[in-house]
This record gives sequence, structure tokens and C-alpha cells, in this order.
Amino acid sequence: SKEVAGGSFHFYHEGMGRRTVENVKYENALYRALERDEFVLFYQPQIDYCSGRLTGVEALIRWNHPVEGLVPPGIFIPLAEQTGLIVPIGEWVMREAAGQLKKWLDAGYPPISMAVNLSAAQFEQDDLVSVVERVLEETGIPPGTFHLELTENQLMRDSELAIETMHRLKKLGVHLAIDDFGTGYSSLGYLQKFPVSTLKIDRSFIRDLMDDDDDRALTDTIITMAGNLGMKVIAEGVETKPQADYLATRKCTLMQGYFFSPPIPARQLEKEFLKNEKG
Ligand code: C2E
Ligand code: CA
Ligand code: CA
Ligand code: CA
Repeated sequence: SKEVAGGSFHFYHEGMGRRTVENVKYENALYRALERDEFVLFYQPQIDYCSGRLTGVEALIRWNHPVEGLVPPGIFIPLAEQTGLIVPIGEWVMREAAGQLKKWLDAGYPPISMAVNLSAAQFEQDDLVSVVERVLEETGIPPGTFHLELTENQLMRDSELAIETMHRLKKLGVHLAIDDFGTGYSSLGYLQKFPVSTLKIDRSFIRDLMDDDDDRALTDTIITMAGNLGMKVIAEGVETKPQADYLATRKCTLMQGYFFSPPIPARQLEKEFLKNEKG
């Protein structure tokens, strides 16, 4: 079966629902991590394969643990979601990501987009729209450069409410993307109702693109469908040139994956991607 991104989700899976001593300790540690500013964002390039240009980045959180080192999100995001800590953590992510983009724009780098991931609990907060509005005001980034990624299943939980929230977000000028597309259970009928500008094809379909007919058929269908609906498509998890070339023949030219770059720190992105585009 198709796996969820991150790969390390199993670490804390068993008994995660229980409030064990370990769990509570861990929860406190997460809370302190936020207070001590131990979270960091890495940025993964999104490339237009036709032009070779950087079009945007996706911000991905890591926990820079004083003892354990860099802890990937698959380890701590599930617990943060369960405990509700994802709400303040997610707000920090938005501020940090938007603030970083502002620095890049001020430094004269070409305009790119900044995508952040929204958890279900964040999406369901009454004040999400005002939080996003405040982040835009405080940082002063053009709203159109800010992209919020939501998963299909998140949108299907209470789709009427989701659609309303999405419209309010869209009014702020931000763009919405459906993450991990193809793994959820939203119907095509619903897809039309969601005011999203981008579909991100889940990397589990890209992984076997070259030798799995079903994955290829599904990928082709998503690209065609998105085109018909006037949406952009980003293929996630592109690891090889044959995958990239195949996608290009299908007119999907926006790509993200290890073939181009893993998520990297801001400084490294500046050196390896932004500097080349300056001027
Ligand atoms: P995602 O949003 O689907 O992010 C893409 C994940 O795929 C990232 O893992 C990225 O490093 C990985 N990836 C990118 N290209 C490739 C590739 O070519 N091959 C392979 N095998 N993997 C690739 P990461 O950074 O460990 O994040 C895992 C998940 O954690 C994310 O999946 C997202 O659901 C969640 N996450 C990360 N940051 C945040 C955040 O700030 N807030 C929330 N709510 N969730 C986050
Ligand atoms: Ca995924
Ligand atoms: Ca994402
Ligand atoms: Ca994804």
C-alpha cells in the first residue's frame, strides 16, 4: 500500500493515543521546544522543469533537538496534532516562512512562492483566517506568494465548512494547494467546488511511474483533469531524470523532489538556488 510521506511515522505510532508517562514527557518537551525556539524550517525547491527556474519553495519543519539533533516532522507532528500543539507550532511556521520570504524579496532575489503545510486542527481553528491575515500584514509579503497546502482528507471532513474557509482565505489573496493528491477519497465533483489553484501529485505515484501502468494512468489523469479545471500541478517526489522527462511529456512541468534538491536550510537555498537567479 502507499505510504505516507516521512517514512518514520511508525516510530511513535503504537499507543500514541494513550496518555502514557512517555507521551506526557514528550508533549512537555515539544512545548518547551517552541518556547526555546528549537524548531527550524528547511525549504525544498519547486522547479519549472522547462525553464529550469526556481518557482517556489515548500517550508518543512524540523526540530533541532539539543541532544537528538535534527528530528524530522514525521516523528513529532503526529503528537503535536493530537495534543493541539500543532496550532501554535503551525502559527510559528507561517510567521517564520513568511518572514524568510520577505527577507529574500528585500534582498532582491526574484519573486518566488512560499508554501506551508496546514494541519487539520489548524484548518479548523475559528481564527485561522485572521491569523493568516495578520501574518501577511506583519511580514508585508504579497499575498499571492503565500501558498497553503491542505490534504484531500482534511477538506472532506466537513467539506461545506472547508469550502467556506477556503473562500475566506482566497479573499486574502493567498493560494491554496491540495497536498498528497490521489491518496484521499475526494470525488471529482468535489474537486471542482474547492477554490484551489494547485494539485500536488502524491510522491507514491511518482515513485513507480516508470514501471507501474496504474500509477502512470493515474498521474496522466490527474494532470489532464487539473488542466481542465484550470489548476496547476506539481509532481512531488521526483527522484530521477526519466520521471522528470516523462512528466514533461505529459505537460506537467512543475516538480519537486530529490532529483532537484532535498529540503535545505535557508542559507543553502540562497547559495545554490537564489544567487543564480539574481539580477
Ligand atoms: P509533505 O507535505 O508531503 O512533504 C513532502 C515530504 O516528502 C517531505 O518530508 C520531503 O522531505 C519529502 N520528499 C521530498 N522530495 C522527496 C523525494 O524525492 N523522495 C522522497 N522519498 N521524499 C521526498 P518531511 O520534510 O519529512 O515532511 C514529512 C511530512 O511532515 C510532510 O509531508 C508534512 O505532511 C509534514 N510536515 C512537514 N512540515 C510541516 C509543518 O510545518 N506543518 C505541518 N502541519 N506538517 C508538516
Ligand atoms: Ca505524501
Ligand atoms: Ca506538503
Ligand atoms: Ca505532499
